[in-house]
Amino acid sequence: MTRQFAVVGNPIEHSRSPELHHAFAKATGIDLNYSRRLAPLDGFAANIQEFFNQGGSGLNVTVPFKEQAYQLCDVLTPRAQVARAVNTLWQQNGQLHGDNTDGQGLVDALNALGWKLEQANILILGAGGATRGVMLPLAQAGASQIVVANRTLSRAQQLIDDVQPFITGTKLSAISLDQLSGQFDLIINATSASLSGELLLLPPELQFQQAYEMAYGKPSSFLEQAAQRGVPTSDGFSMLVGQAIEAFSIWNGIKPPLNDFLSLQH
Ligand code: NDP
Repeated sequence: MTRQFAVVGNPIEHSRSPELHHAFAKATGIDLNYSRRLAPLDGFAANIQEFFNQGGSGLNVTVPFKEQAYQLCDVLTPRAQVARAVNTLWQQNGQLHGDNTDGQGLVDALNALGWKLEQANILILGAGGATRGVMLPLAQAGASQIVVANRTLSRAQQLIDDVQPFITGTKLSAISLDQLSGQFDLIINATSASLSGELLLLPPELQFQQAYEMAYGKPSSFLEQAAQRGVPTSDGFSMLVGQAIEAFSIWNGIKPPLNDFLSLQH
């Protein structure tokens, strides 16, 4: 029988998830249908209940419902607990299970680029939901230090305080975005500045070897500045593919190789 999956959000027409999951299904020979669900802003819980009542196997959750999904779950993975947000849902023994695959998606994307995370010294710009979601997987991948720099310093400090109890062996700290300096192996832009077209200035006293922009499909001044320094760069499409593959593997027990799907970017 064809297994049913979907992504739920508001808005939802832009989502690339159906295309990605159908490509994974084709590559692995799994019989599934993956659709888009537009949930009313005040009707998320009823929408997902209806999906599972009708025999649906798994749901991805996108803006603005990831925190609500986290609240509704009976069982959460550790990385979803740290993220305080859920992007992957399924039911087991009548209980709603939730995971957050964004962070592992980023780790798999960085691995696919051949960028080393073991003992890496990482700077993350931004302290929103995306940063929260990647902290535990980056630490588990062996990062020796993660510095979170944010425009609102108190938000970065709060994030470090919240995730610290879950993380051992990785030094964590918070700085203000206007104090950027020092040497890092990898810098990750997890601000939404590129989405709004706002400029993020990387000062000369900040040195880094590789630059990853979480946003994709838009020009990024962050990536332009990094490219001018001659370091390897990547936008966030590979993370999008990575998080989708991780959700696919939770539901279907097969993890197709990320590199096979990067050509879907357009
Ligand atoms: P949030 O709204 O939760 O957080 C936004 C962050 O950006 C905050 O830290 C905010 O700082 C900072 N920020 C916003 N505007 C500026 C600016 N002009 N200058 C400096 N800092 C700024 O967003 P998310 O964490 O959910 O998403 C962040 C980015 O990651 C987005 O580009 C999103 O598209 C991308 N993303 C990509 C994914 C992928 O699969 N590739 C997955 C998830 C996210 P402050 O706290 O001071 O307001």
